[in-house]
Amino acid sequence: AACLYQAEKLKTLNMFVRLTKEVAEIQAKEADSRYKNGNIRCLLDGIPVAVKDNYCTLNVETTCSSQMLENFKPQYNATMVQKLQNAGAVLLGKCNMDEFAMGSGTVDSIHGPSKNIWQSGKCATSIEHVHSVKVKCREFYQLSPPSSKGSCSTVEEDDWFIAGGSSGGSAVAVASGTVFAALGSDTGGSTRNPAAYCGVVGLKPSYGLLSRHGLIPLVNSMDVPGILTRTVDDAVTLLNVLAGYDPLDSTTIRDDFIPLDLSQDIDISKMRIGIPQEYHCPGISDEVLETWSEVADILEKAGAEVVSVSMPHTPSSIACYSVLNQCEVASNMARYDGIEFGLRTAENRSTEELYASTRSQGFNEIVRGRILAGNYFLLQRNYSQYFVQALKVRRLIAQDFARVWSSGIDVLLTPTTLTDAPRYSQFISRDNREQCASQDYCTQPANMAGCPAVTIPIKLSKQGLPLSLQLMSQNYRENLLLAIARWIE
Ligand code: GLN
Repeated sequence: AACLYQAEKLKTLNMFVRLTKEVAEIQAKEADSRYKNGNIRCLLDGIPVAVKDNYCTLNVETTCSSQMLENFKPQYNATMVQKLQNAGAVLLGKCNMDEFAMGSGTVDSIHGPSKNIWQSGKCATSIEHVHSVKVKCREFYQLSPPSSKGSCSTVEEDDWFIAGGSSGGSAVAVASGTVFAALGSDTGGSTRNPAAYCGVVGLKPSYGLLSRHGLIPLVNSMDVPGILTRTVDDAVTLLNVLAGYDPLDSTTIRDDFIPLDLSQDIDISKMRIGIPQEYHCPGISDEVLETWSEVADILEKAGAEVVSVSMPHTPSSIACYSVLNQCEVASNMARYDGIEFGLRTAENRSTEELYASTRSQGFNEIVRGRILAGNYFLLQRNYSQYFVQALKVRRLIAQDFARVWSSGIDVLLTPTTLTDAPRYSQFISRDNREQCASQDYCTQPANMAGCPAVTIPIKLSKQGLPLSLQLMSQNYRENLLLAIARWIE
């Protein structure tokens, strides 16, 4: 009830597209009675969570923030939603996002943009507890009773800071203490980008570790469910609940999942940390660079070997991602035709015209633009020049990672975003392509390689917004990745 109260109180942040009160009440009552009977099911019993609105939820609207799916009620739960429920969690609501997860700001949603809870140090969420680098963020971000949080009236001002995206609603829900954890999705950075801007932990697990069944696809070969929490320990708890083979998703790995155990503190002096030179890119702010080198110094002082490495294909990642993204989008979006499910316009002259009018009404300009571009890249005469070429570049990017791991690097340390959260007006003055190009530079390569990556908040910028860094490790080495993240946290 306290969390629902918090959600109502912070309505102006627009983090939820729908509160699932009925579902939450039933789940909370069940958790209560289990508690009274001394029959607690698991770590998430009675814990409030939220999921991005691209996860199918049984009989609950799942819109992907698009008019195309405005009234779509799935007949089943996504595996991730079902696993949360099986673990006893209480689903508080569905979170806002960019339409079909295409974006980096949560500014392109039929439900309107989400706002960051951090507003130039003016928001009443305990800014005073944050000091310099090497803040033990864990204490600061610990879940405190929602009712003790202040009101965020200042964010009603016109020019607020964006939440990041596309999982912006999920990040705000966690950062504001409305839920303990939330699910996002991550195709090119959509979990890590908003987590970084909102000052929470954002984990993109290895491709294939978590099931995508019931997660409405953007780019099937890169999408992964993302985890947003306040602390690394909480992310581990969630990962242990969610990971593992799913017969309903043929891309999940069949190996038994061994739950992560971070009970022992890691010996940082045995670690080799790589600093990839190509992540020093144009547009990166001085404060981000400073934070990056400060944390590298801290690791070095603690005895870790910090080495500069080269990943030469990184600068090609944005162009390569954008071709592959649009090709897969063109193929994925073909299912929305006005016939099977979702929106159907009244057009009845011909089937083709029904398709066309449904799609032009149901999708925003960004989705339509990507479908068009994707189909262009996939034309027979363009196929090898664009699609096949992009697949080859993707392989080169993945090989950059493979080379680094085989040289004995345990984790890579990089910025997550190039700056702290931009202002809304500044952000929307660039078109979607430019937004992604500038916001996702450091996050997209991990999706190309399928490797796990986590963003953790480090300190506040001069204007009072969170600055975060990213760690990446070899595929399926989440244990090492998160142990190091926790050491830094
Ligand atoms: N910003 C990127 C895009 O729009 C990434 C999106 C995502 O990770 N879902 O494609």
